[in-house]
Amino acid sequence: MLRDSVKFSEVAKKKIVAGNWKMNKTIEEGTALAKAVAAGKFSSRVTVVLCPPFINLQSVQKVIARKKSIRLGAQNLYPEPHGAYTGEVSAEMLGAAGVSYVILGHSERRQYFHESDEFISRKIKAALSKGITPIFCCGEPSEIRHAGKHIAYVENQLHNALFNLTEAEISGVVIAYEPIWAIGTGLTASPQQAQEMHASIRKLLKKRFGATTAKNIPILYGGSCNAGNAAELFTLPDVDGGLIGGASLNAEDFIKIANSF
Ligand code: PEP
Repeated sequence: MLRDSVKFSEVAKKKIVAGNWKMNKTIEEGTALAKAVAAGKFSSRVTVVLCPPFINLQSVQKVIARKKSIRLGAQNLYPEPHGAYTGEVSAEMLGAAGVSYVILGHSERRQYFHESDEFISRKIKAALSKGITPIFCCGEPSEIRHAGKHIAYVENQLHNALFNLTEAEISGVVIAYEPIWAIGTGLTASPQQAQEMHASIRKLLKKRFGATTAKNIPILYGGSCNAGNAAELFTLPDVDGGLIGGASLNAEDFIKIANSF
């Protein structure tokens, strides 16, 4: 039904499923989870990204080192290259640890650590300067959706954090639409809600960076995506994969999600 009612945009070829482990798993537990995921079979069309806590990066990297389809991701970075920033980790350090992707602008960081779009924009540039692909998270809280202002809200986030990039820079970015009301709540966006927002994001990218660039930027959906609903979401014309929180902590579910294209 939905496929008939929406205008098909040309979708990006690259599919990505990234697991955001958040603040979960000791080194031992994380190694076991990474091994269980690495034992899965994945289509060559999909890039699987594991984003464990910083302390697990090295051990997870060892597990996935020989798996072509699986990449290492981090959950954050600090935009300065080095120096007196106690507790922080730079893009250069992540790159040296084998990190290829980094989640930036997650709503939990915006909420608990008061990160602004401008600060996130600095992080994006730092990641890109070291060849690390930012997974830029955007998405509205429930009151904004109820007020019918979700499209404008996300447009503003994109405008502030991404639209100062060059065409070459934006081509190295992945976007994750994560409605805040859907994160960890079991309330998944409906296919219509997800497609509406993804198409709107793609349209904005097209207006700012041109059609070819816009069609090749992967736009992932995140927010209570699981083994039962991933296939329906991933077949939407402008959904190029998922950013998975809770369900990425279960290898069987995560493998199933990554094979839902
Ligand atoms: C997330 O936090 O990025 C996320 C998508 O979480 P969950 O899948 O648990 O809703």
